[in-house]
Amino acid sequence: MRVLSVTPAIVLRSRSFGESDKIVSFLTRDHGKVTGIAKGAKRSRKRFVNTLEPFCLVNLHFQERPHSSLVFIHACDWILFFKDITMNLEKIAHASYLLEITDELTREREDNRLIFEHLKQGLVAIEKNQPSLSVLAIFGMKLLRLSGYQPMLDCCRRCGKTQPGLNAGLRDEDPEVAKSKSSGGWRFGLRDGGILCEACAEFRKETFSLSLEVLQVLTRLQGVDSVATSSLNLPLSALKESFTILSRFIEFQINKELRSAPFLDAFCTP
Ligand SMILES: [Zn+2]
Repeated sequence: MRVLSVTPAIVLRSRSFGESDKIVSFLTRDHGKVTGIAKGAKRSRKRFVNTLEPFCLVNLHFQERPHSSLVFIHACDWILFFKDITMNLEKIAHASYLLEITDELTREREDNRLIFEHLKQGLVAIEKNQPSLSVLAIFGMKLLRLSGYQPMLDCCRRCGKTQPGLNAGLRDEDPEVAKSKSSGGWRFGLRDGGILCEACAEFRKETFSLSLEVLQVLTRLQGVDSVATSSLNLPLSALKESFTILSRFIEFQINKELRSAPFLDAFCTP
């Protein structure tokens, strides 16, 4: 007899399958990413009552199916409904970005409870607060670490030289002065998975120039452990540049463009 598993889960994506079924991907707390088929989900709304839509946090009841990577979705019960997210377009854009990068940076059945808790915390932060680019940037940076893609930011990836932003205090500095300071030619290398000094970056492809301020913001982001941290007070232009670099780095790792990025851009341009 096949065992029924029950686990908290967040719906990552959902699509119609045939006339009455749905195929749904979840990030579960206990089994990693799980994709399954919900038979009759489009007809029998009673059984699932809108629990198969993105952003839902549910208790997922599922069974393995023989000879198939798709599980059988038996039922879903509500744990948390992110009402504010579903009613605000900007919050939808932010939450969609979180779901997409989590989906892309995780593999099926790779158990990682920390990523589940991180995504849950990210959605709660978007639900409860004003949409904030720093939440997205902190989320992305920590997700890269939890999924094994953490960029190296403390020294040059090739020669080991220490970067100049490490010891400079960002918050104590006049923003205009910080903005004008050059990093001395440091760049972020997508292929290198981190920063490169001027000498090592020469002739390297797919690199982004880094001002001292952006270097400092990226370093600060890496030091933050929780998206609930609201007192970072990072300079907006450097935060935007840092966020763009992180998104490009994620796209480089997954080898495709993020679908949620253009939607997000509509809200992030001044
Ligand atoms: Zn170097």
